[in-house]
Amino acid sequence: MITQKHIDQLRRIIGKENVLTTVEELVAYSYDATNWSHMPEVVVFPTDTEQISGILQFANENEIPVTPRGGGTNVSGGSIPIKGGIVLCTTRMNKIIDINKNNLNATVEPGVILQDLQVALAKEGLFFPPDPQSFAGCTMGGVVAENSGGPSCLKYGVTKQYVLGLEVVLADGRTVKLGGLTPKNRTGYELMMLFTGSEGTLGVISKITLRLLPEPKTNKTIVAVFGDVAEAGETVSDIIAGGVLPSKVEFVDNWTFEKFRGLLPDKILDNSQVILLIQVDGLPETVAAETAEIVGICKNSAGHVRVAEDPAEAEKYWQARSAHFSDISSRTHTIVNEDVSVPRDRIADFIRISQESAKKYDVPISFAGHVGDGNFHPVVLSDNRDKEHFERALKCVDEIIETALSLGGVLSGEHGIGLEKQRFLKKAMDPVAIDIMKQIKGLLDPNNILNPGKIWEESPHE
Ligand SMILES: Cc1cc2nc3c(=O)[nH]c(=O)nc-3n(C[C@H](O)[C@H](O)[C@H](O)COP(=O)(O)OP(=O)(O)OC[C@H]3O[C@@H](n4cnc5c(N)ncnc54)[C@H](O)[C@@H]3O)c2cc1C
Repeated sequence: MITQKHIDQLRRIIGKENVLTTVEELVAYSYDATNWSHMPEVVVFPTDTEQISGILQFANENEIPVTPRGGGTNVSGGSIPIKGGIVLCTTRMNKIIDINKNNLNATVEPGVILQDLQVALAKEGLFFPPDPQSFAGCTMGGVVAENSGGPSCLKYGVTKQYVLGLEVVLADGRTVKLGGLTPKNRTGYELMMLFTGSEGTLGVISKITLRLLPEPKTNKTIVAVFGDVAEAGETVSDIIAGGVLPSKVEFVDNWTFEKFRGLLPDKILDNSQVILLIQVDGLPETVAAETAEIVGICKNSAGHVRVAEDPAEAEKYWQARSAHFSDISSRTHTIVNEDVSVPRDRIADFIRISQESAKKYDVPISFAGHVGDGNFHPVVLSDNRDKEHFERALKCVDEIIETALSLGGVLSGEHGIGLEKQRFLKKAMDPVAIDIMKQIKGLLDPNNILNPGKIWEESPHE
């Protein structure tokens, strides 16, 4: 329980202009992009590493929970202050410290918005590939803490492949520098990786150095329209097995289909169900050859295949794909959004069995996702004010997760565990691995102040 004395002390550490306490202010930090919510007792906005250190030292001494937060766009309940206490929001640490073209790296503060970084890099002809579709609002601290993915990760890999160096403030206020500026570094254990994807439970990331790539010279977008979900799934496997690796292969089902029907200049068959939205990038000659190859594979089973004529046409399709989440969210009161990943050769089976589950529980379901990686976001549409319907929706989701695991898949491809998926963790992870995670947590945060109540079914010290 935070007292006035605690708040006064926090004001002394970071200045009263960086501390929020009124209910109206706090409520904005009580939720994220899930159905969870819990009020913090105070929200603080540190402006440098020293202030983060001061806050954590104070919180540790007083055993006050601290929930790190960036843009609050996560879909796992990760930034919900489920035990109350302090929300530590990094959005006032939003400087791009350095972009180094010769070293192909950039150093940023944790509150930098991904889209701002993407724009700054594009001006220099540089590229940070991981592209969570929340790029307009998510921060680089959140991207690293969630080890986020996105469409481009099919060809380029996820965030962890681009983290060169981290500065992290530990629960007791000590600051540690890990990694560095060089792409190769074999000095001791890979401690940096421990914090990448740690969901705010092991430390607060206060500075990040990222590996960059030169921006691909050109790209082409292909829209392939299918009458059958399974055929689309099999086509993804065929493309990957065909020896060409597109930069993106995204799946859009009939819920978002109407948007595409309006955008595509050609008439689409009435029985169309699914779109694969594919991008190939690289040198112009390679892109032309690879596009032709993929179009050929798609034509084996697609009812319609179109290559976007120019970047403006392509952009329309990618915007419609990015809008899927908000589109589905606007159709109902409550959505349950999952994030399983299955081996690519089981994609068609996964969709078919999940559709049967939705039928069994009589709930609407939509599929979208980074299907090239086998990473799906099945979204069950429900209304949590209708208890009976919501229970059916949750049962359906449980079955979908069981299906993904039984096909050799994983519980979360990119969103993390947070609160949302912790009830499945025991089924999805080796118990010895869970035990090791708890021991690491106990070592780095013995008072369990950092984002308590997350990942495990019960916190290690409860
Ligand atoms: C429309 C939409 C589309 C999305 N698309 C994708 C997608 O394609 N791929 C994908 O991977 N995710 C996606 N997401 C999920 C989410 O946007 C990402 O996980 C994103 O990286 C979170 O960043 P954030 O700044 O909003 O973090 P927050 O939501 O604020 O926090 C996320 C987690 O990171 C921790 N954290 C935040 N900052 C720090 C820090 N500095 N130090 C330590 N821990 C910290 C928090 O405690 C929390 O556990 C999507 C979300 C939405 C709403």
